[in-house]
Amino acid sequence: MTSNHTLRPATQLVHGGFTRSNFGETSEAIYMTQGFVYDSAEAAEARFRGEDPGFIYARYASPTNDIFEKRMCLMEGAEEARATASGMAAVSAALLCQLSAGDHVVSARALFGSCRWVIDTLLPRYGIESTLVDGRDLANFEAAIRPNTKVFFLESPANPTLEVVDIAGVAKLANQLGAKLVVDNVFATPLMQKPLELGAHVVAYSATKHIDGQGRCLGGVVLSDKAWIDEHLHDYFRHTGPSLSPFNAWTLLKGLETLPLRVRQQTSNAGAVTDFLAEHPAVAKVTYPGRADHPQAEICARQMSGGSTLVAFELKGGKSAAFAMQNALEVVRISNNLGDAKSLITHPATTTHKNLTDEARDELGIAPGMVRLSLGIEDVQDLIEDFDRALSGL
Ligand SMILES: *Cc1c(COP(=O)(O)O)cnc(C)c1O
Repeated sequence: MTSNHTLRPATQLVHGGFTRSNFGETSEAIYMTQGFVYDSAEAAEARFRGEDPGFIYARYASPTNDIFEKRMCLMEGAEEARATASGMAAVSAALLCQLSAGDHVVSARALFGSCRWVIDTLLPRYGIESTLVDGRDLANFEAAIRPNTKVFFLESPANPTLEVVDIAGVAKLANQLGAKLVVDNVFATPLMQKPLELGAHVVAYSATKHIDGQGRCLGGVVLSDKAWIDEHLHDYFRHTGPSLSPFNAWTLLKGLETLPLRVRQQTSNAGAVTDFLAEHPAVAKVTYPGRADHPQAEICARQMSGGSTLVAFELKGGKSAAFAMQNALEVVRISNNLGDAKSLITHPATTTHKNLTDEARDELGIAPGMVRLSLGIEDVQDLIEDFDRALSGL
């Protein structure tokens, strides 16, 4: 396949980036190898000089990972990518590779727990200053800028509140300063939001989520233009070693093939379940990027091409009602994971966001009665009946 750029996403996700071996296999091969052999000492020298583009060592690059990286680039509209062992390896590499002591980062404060730890705890240990802002208002990013601001970071929609950030607006601020915007695009998936097209410089994914989508392996990926990867990520990645296992790259390739089918079903399930929850007397409020009552519906419509596979909602009965409902669910399982074929529900205040102070949780809107639901691909009627039963006992 050479002209993949003209193909549509669902086609690219099945065929893109595939170089077949001499055997002509239908499915991508798993190259579980650490290293590569050279025909001669001269060939080894040429490869190390960069005069011959072949592989050198699996920590740098390897054939199955290469297919995954190329396919992700086609999907994202990026020039280059590096596949990582987890989403956090992707996020931390995307930040650390381009920051030095004395630099400053501005980040939206509504973040996946580990992302928040990297920004507000890890970076300062290395002399990198960081400021967390309420990302719902673009003016807060602008007000936090310092002369040494080098990077902006955000998640949109954010975990677990599903609030959104104006990506094009932050990208514009970054460009005015010559700074870079890194977007964690996990919640939107590459199908529903294209941060690079909106002006972001770097996109990071936890491929563990929708890209695998079937609960099997961890993975991640960082995507950008060739100049940024060459200047910042290339050496960092080679020498710190966050590389993805080729077996997991293969698993993720199988995930990509069915990504549009799964995300379409999950989004449609999420819309229908949210509509049911919004009308239920035990529910205080729902937050869903696909609904007109989302507090930032206008930004959602501008930068996202669909709703979401996740919904956040709050029960009137607080924590005890949230626990009772979770315990009464029979189809939907209690898990802090997301993006899976199975519907999963979590109570952020006591799990993913338990390490935050009460004030930080209040600021973010993580109320005691709030739960985050990740929709799977089950029959939607079974999901609605599950909630109907679990809520009727409250
Ligand atoms: C899960 C997640 C991560 C971390 O990914 P891992 O694969 O678990 O390391 C980062 N950001 C967001 C938004 C996530 O949901």
